[in-house]
Amino acid sequence: MPNKKLAESNLVDWIPQRVKRCPLDCPECYYNRAVNENTEWIQHVGDRPSDVDIQTKIVRVNSGLDSNIERKIVVEQTRELPHKFYNTSIPQWIGFPGPVVLTVNPGWCGYQFHNLAGSIGFLSQLMFVRVLVADVTQHALNIIAREIRWYARFNVPVVLTFMRYTGMPTHPSGYTMTGHIDHEWWCPTIETKRGTYAELLSNASHGDLYVCGGLEGDERCATCGVCERLYWRSLEGDE
Ligand code: SF4
Repeated sequence: MPNKKLAESNLVDWIPQRVKRCPLDCPECYYNRAVNENTEWIQHVGDRPSDVDIQTKIVRVNSGLDSNIERKIVVEQTRELPHKFYNTSIPQWIGFPGPVVLTVNPGWCGYQFHNLAGSIGFLSQLMFVRVLVADVTQHALNIIAREIRWYARFNVPVVLTFMRYTGMPTHPSGYTMTGHIDHEWWCPTIETKRGTYAELLSNASHGDLYVCGGLEGDERCATCGVCERLYWRSLEGDE
């Protein structure tokens, strides 16, 4: 079942290994919730994209699960794809046959990762780092800004992803219940996202900073285009 967020974009999803819960288990993870509830979406999530899509689009491997879980299977299944990138939240991105996006959740499971000495020298090899924004309290934004400054030192692009909630968030200020793709969620308002982006842009001093889905409220990959742009940019470094 296609992910409607990706409709009309040049991206297509594939989770090539056996579907199971992501062990990092960030609160309110849409993927883990779908696994728990065995939704119709999750029943199709491992389906291989069509041959046409594989030949004409960029395959986004493991959006939801993690490319380092059953990594051998993931690499075997995807090695020959013409265009692909890998998602992981586990700081082992060396050796994948394509660019890698590292997702971190500051204050939850990602913040400590940048201290792993073995990984630091290779940060510049990342396609980008996806930094989750769990709430917009000043405390959270200070931690996130510190995280972004770290990646700025290595010229790694950062994409902010605002988390959405099924129940009222712990810190609801700046959030509202609204439709997102197919479901109603507690989401940050456009004003919250704009204000947060402006503050982080200023505090974290990182010019290569983006917001997943942009700041205009559309949120679809086809209008955002950040993954695609950063994918092609990451390949330029290989030439
Ligand atoms: S950054 Fe843009 S292109 Fe990438 S997943 Fe988010 S909305 Fe889609």
